[in-house]
Amino acid sequence: MNDNDPTHAEAFRIDVGEAERLIAANMPQYGCVSVPLAEATGQILRQRIIAERDQPPFDRATMDGIAVAAADLGNGVRTFEIDGIQAAGEAVKAVKGAGHCLEVMTGAVMPTGTDTVVPVERISVADGVAAFEDGYAAEPGQFIHGCASDHSQDDVLLEPGERIGGPEMAILTAAGQANVEIARWPKVAIVSTGDELVDVGEALADFQIRSSNDRALQATLERYGCAHSKRTWLPDDPQKLLRQVGALHADNDVLVLSGGVSMGRYDYVPGILQELGVKLIFHKILQRPGLPMWFGISADNKPVFALPGNPVSTLVCFVRYVLPAIGSAMGAPPATRLRLPLAEAVDFEPDLCWFLPVALKPGTDGTPCAEPRPTNTSGDFIGLRGTDGFLALPRAESHFPVAYKADFYSW
Ligand code: AMP
Ligand code: MG
Repeated sequence: MNDNDPTHAEAFRIDVGEAERLIAANMPQYGCVSVPLAEATGQILRQRIIAERDQPPFDRATMDGIAVAAADLGNGVRTFEIDGIQAAGEAVKAVKGAGHCLEVMTGAVMPTGTDTVVPVERISVADGVAAFEDGYAAEPGQFIHGCASDHSQDDVLLEPGERIGGPEMAILTAAGQANVEIARWPKVAIVSTGDELVDVGEALADFQIRSSNDRALQATLERYGCAHSKRTWLPDDPQKLLRQVGALHADNDVLVLSGGVSMGRYDYVPGILQELGVKLIFHKILQRPGLPMWFGISADNKPVFALPGNPVSTLVCFVRYVLPAIGSAMGAPPATRLRLPLAEAVDFEPDLCWFLPVALKPGTDGTPCAEPRPTNTSGDFIGLRGTDGFLALPRAESHFPVAYKADFYSW
């Protein structure tokens, strides 16, 4: 049987799990790129990060006060001659001897000969002498963040695959990484097809609509850190589609098309893709919305996702399949998939997996639950306003009671 034959029964109407598996099995792996630290925010780390030095790199005072020796405390000393100040950022100083102290500031190196900090709130100072407050007992060693107490030089601080947020950025900085290896984003071309589509800024006839899908997908990609996807519009014209989809395919790593994949007379996309040599992997998934989704791979290993044009379908298919596939091809760990309980019962009779838009809200005990927000149709993208994502309600069931738990996908 010809693999490119769209009548290939296996390629028709597969389950969501099978679709996910087939996509994963056909995705290439994308490499990495070195960028200045400032460009790494939100990206996937692709190198192991080793500690440049101990953390903290010295015994560090954690309170403003005076630095004293525990031995003096043991000997009952309660007044100390102040030899000077040890500020943060100053090279280490030393106390002159027993009964002496240095004023010390948070973040300073502990002066040589001291090992305990007495907070400024617990002392009074007169004539260069610090005296403890009446009845105050200092714990030997208190208010010091000990050298190497968090980690040691050469410890592994970060592993490849971690997403770089605030904490990771702090760690990379502490490790002295001026540049960092991150996952390279594939070049993604987003193509809206349809004679009825008009971009913003252009005049609109009564029978035309704005092309919102390409911008919705681009915005979604941007939220995940992809700054350079390209948007294109193409008409329902087989010659133009063949030429321009061919050119886009040559210039990009991933093609995401919307529209023109169903049974309509002008739904040319699947035929065009196969004419361009993109091998059909599947067409149609047992799901709503988004049943007519098409997926294929070219001989040069470039995935092509052709999504149905109805805006809710496009967005759901993109978030359910395309984003996770690109993420794992970039070496990202699988997203933490929350299973969330329904806030209300819902019924769905068709023998399809139902991607139900939901808004997250705190349940009676404050834990998150998913409030159903079904749209009127898969064309009703305005109905997605205020939703956080969707629940994947399995095909095997048709009644979903309150508190029924299902996988949540975030926009
Ligand atoms: P299609 O998948 O081409 O049959 O399109 C299904 C529906 O989605 C039609 O009503 C289209 O007008 C609409 N549609 C297709 N592409 C877009 C787009 N880029 N933006 C908004 N709506 C679209
Ligand atoms: Mg169309």
